[in-house]
Amino acid sequence: MSHLIHRNLRRTPPVAVRAQGITITDSAGRTYLDASGGAAVSSLGHGHPAVLAAMHAQIDRSAYAHTAFFTCEAAEELAARLAADAPGDLDHVYLVSGGSEAMETALKLARQYHLEAGQPQRSVFLARRQSYHGNTLGALAVGGNAWRRHPFAPLLIDVPHVAPCYEYRDRADGQSTDDYTAALLRELEDAIRAAGPDKLIAFVAETVVGATAGAVPPTPGYFRGVRKLCDQYGLLLILDEVMCGMGRSGTLYAFEQEGVLPDLVVLGKGLGAGYQPIGAVLARAPIVRRLRDGSGAFQHGHTYMGHPVAAAAALAVQKVIQKENLLGAVTVRGAALRRMLREAFGQHPHVGDIRGRGLLIGLELVQDRASKAPFDPALRLHALIKDEAMARGLMVYPMGGTIDGRQGDHILLAPPFIATEAE
Ligand code: PLP
Repeated sequence: MSHLIHRNLRRTPPVAVRAQGITITDSAGRTYLDASGGAAVSSLGHGHPAVLAAMHAQIDRSAYAHTAFFTCEAAEELAARLAADAPGDLDHVYLVSGGSEAMETALKLARQYHLEAGQPQRSVFLARRQSYHGNTLGALAVGGNAWRRHPFAPLLIDVPHVAPCYEYRDRADGQSTDDYTAALLRELEDAIRAAGPDKLIAFVAETVVGATAGAVPPTPGYFRGVRKLCDQYGLLLILDEVMCGMGRSGTLYAFEQEGVLPDLVVLGKGLGAGYQPIGAVLARAPIVRRLRDGSGAFQHGHTYMGHPVAAAAALAVQKVIQKENLLGAVTVRGAALRRMLREAFGQHPHVGDIRGRGLLIGLELVQDRASKAPFDPALRLHALIKDEAMARGLMVYPMGGTIDGRQGDHILLAPPFIATEAE
């Protein structure tokens, strides 16, 4: 019996003992091809020598120094690099230990920003039904996955949720993409007015929806419209790029392809590429300036924020992405993988949609392609496919549960950027 509380309490997963390149080997000697990068985490694959060397060097110098007493070179350098590489004035960085912690940080930073402008009545976040922003209580509250929220619903702050941008299912027959997008933006504006614009803190969304619905990209112009509404009504725009950021979409940030600048960007996963637990919030200059000129402190903090070894690993990941020209590789290999998937499954009776950006690719499974009817959720088809794939030595990330009030099964592919076409 395992003393660990595993994700599934009735089943202990295989024991990973070695990981190299795009494969992981278990204690029984079986090797698995990591076609999902775990959950879109391992963007450089496993055992990258440059990242390991950076971590070793940092551990030898200083493994930890509490941020109430010290800063460290690795964190300073990582923040400077992220600021330099981010568009516009997204030039301040808060480092934490993962995606959920980063989302909590962004929510609190947004709230304090309004508070310090003398707007304490701004206390409500607006978000989308098809979304996952993390499992801590604040992040869970802004998230829209009903299945994840349900057991904890009485503990969650009240967050109005609007429709996601989910063209495959929600654009009506005969409706143009532009008309569909305009209708979504009207719904968002109605929700802003209904909540009371002067009560709202921010609108929160994943640029490309990841863990609830398998790599759903926005329609053209959707986020430009969102940005305009946020500006018009005084809300901040928080984009969650925990899954789709750090190069996975083919640009360092997925929002770069949408022609918008968010106020806060939430990062995790690919930031440390699995080598260390690390997340971050990127903030635009005026947000930090307001706090600096006001109370002088962001009322937040974690024991492991700005951790030297995590920062050193993330910095090395950034350097590898640039040195090995991996953003370009993601675009080329993502297009190749989507083409291969379309060849293999494009006519499959139970594959309704193949979509995504870069190397974040989702397959939506349906009982019937014409009606797009999902499978009976009791089947847990996504989980069966994951198990079957693992039995054949392939890691794919399964997603089921409620999507915008409906059930569906999705498979996510998010291979390491270094994977070759043959792999
Ligand atoms: N936001 C998004 C979009 C995610 O996909 C995830 C994790 O899957 C999170 C937030 C939460 O990140 P973490 O699991 O590191 O807490």
